[in-house]
Amino acid sequence: MRKRLTLAVVLSVFAGTLVLAQGGRGQGGRGQGAGQPAAAVAPDSARVAALKDEAIAEIDRMKDFTQQMVDQIFSYGELGFQEFETHRYLVDLLRQNGFTVEENVAGIPTAFMASWGSGKPVIALGSDIDGIPQASQKPGVAYHDPIVAGGPGHGEGHSSGQAVNITAALVLKKIMEREKIPGTIRIWPGTAEELVGTKAYFVRAGLFKDVDVVLFSHVDRNLSTSWGDQGGTGLVSVEYTFKGESAHSAGAPWRGKSALDAVELMNIGWNFRREHLPLSHRSHYVVTRGGDQPNVVPPTASVWYYFRQTTYDGIKEVWGIGDRIAAAAALMTDTTLLPTRVLGSAWPRHFSQPVAEAAHANIQRIGLPEWSEDDQLFARAVQKELGVREQGLATRLSNLGGPVALANNRGGGSDDIGDISWNVPTITLRYPANIPGLPGHNWADSIAMATPIAHKGATAGAKAQALTMLDLFLEPELVQAAWTYFKDVQTREQQYQPLIRPEDKPAIDLNRDVMARYREEMKKYYYDPTRYKTYLEQLGIQYPTVKK
Ligand SMILES: [Zn+2]
Repeated sequence: MRKRLTLAVVLSVFAGTLVLAQGGRGQGGRGQGAGQPAAAVAPDSARVAALKDEAIAEIDRMKDFTQQMVDQIFSYGELGFQEFETHRYLVDLLRQNGFTVEENVAGIPTAFMASWGSGKPVIALGSDIDGIPQASQKPGVAYHDPIVAGGPGHGEGHSSGQAVNITAALVLKKIMEREKIPGTIRIWPGTAEELVGTKAYFVRAGLFKDVDVVLFSHVDRNLSTSWGDQGGTGLVSVEYTFKGESAHSAGAPWRGKSALDAVELMNIGWNFRREHLPLSHRSHYVVTRGGDQPNVVPPTASVWYYFRQTTYDGIKEVWGIGDRIAAAAALMTDTTLLPTRVLGSAWPRHFSQPVAEAAHANIQRIGLPEWSEDDQLFARAVQKELGVREQGLATRLSNLGGPVALANNRGGGSDDIGDISWNVPTITLRYPANIPGLPGHNWADSIAMATPIAHKGATAGAKAQALTMLDLFLEPELVQAAWTYFKDVQTREQQYQPLIRPEDKPAIDLNRDVMARYREEMKKYYYDPTRYKTYLEQLGIQYPTVKK
């Protein structure tokens, strides 16, 4: 182990020296020091500035196209690994627009890699596409009112990010064709992000091997980006299955060995241990199989854990504790712990400083969307309904986010974009398509996602994405600076090792049963843009619908 580490460090230093020697020029214009303002970004040349103006105007003209994508994917409301309608729609749309698309990448039926252009640099745009269980909700209605009761929906807003990326990509494609700008645009989906189920497999399959920079986009409440170690956690998602022996629960209970007892004892053990884990850790579980019926001693039972921590080593540590508690629960019940199943994983995130600074300069140029009175009225009504501060929608841009020191990171959510960010310079563009103050992973987070709030937010996001792509395609020194930062700063002391084990495979069976249960009913509500201008119009919803 020590030997391997030493070799890795030597290799990293060596690689860093090489890049420094070649890429010294790249250290020039873009800002470097921690917390330095984005003013460190060099001003655009006249040509770049003119192309940026053109891209902004073109994206404004494409706002109906963007809105249709947002509404279409919202109406599918599909759960992770079952995004078949969304997949078909995106693949067809990209092919119609001149992209070549490879389907079924990394052995995942709802994952693809689309490509247009040729040569360097290769800029890959990603965004998640999956929804949340039981989050079905009528858009534009400021209280809980499902489209399909009990059904899934876009209770985080992953319905909006592909529109951001595709609108930006099509504008860039047009400009690059005319101006004969070399480079390749890739577009890919964050399949099953709510299960953090795919991006480690994308990395394993080598999908980013020739990529220079990844521009990820994610729904948020403001237009912003950040660099360095991010707050929040990484995680490993593990299912524990116990095997016991069935018996008549009343007639011969002493002959039974309850797998459910093992699940319950594991959970009790974990909940006692929780007090003695670092404050930055988070963990939670659901019982995925608890037995069949009470008069049969459960011969099999399963529990599914998320173990979160702020570092890779920390994740491995809590995972190890989980494994030991599971083994102990099996001992207590004379059951057998079957080989564990890893259902997903995510590295803690680290984003590229040079790319984030360039993106932030573009964000300042674009600003926030102009919200209407109706948008603000609607947002405040949702906030009132949820009992949170009635602050309305964001009207001031966020600052550029910087690194979060480990000691100050109190944990929180995860995103498997972390895995990609440790393999290629990456940033996440957050765009203002949702309402502040929502709980996340909830029907309330669906409410704005097919309304003018999401439409305007996606258009603003597309502008930011397009402008940063222009920077990357027209200024080779920015790509070079991104790699210098990646090699000399980000990965100097920490290198990527996957959390998924060699034997693990994408959990493509997840959510199959739930989607099968609701899909027929949901189909009645798929958006038809040939008949309706907006999804609100199709559903006959007056925007905004608020309680009197
Ligand atoms: Zn997300």
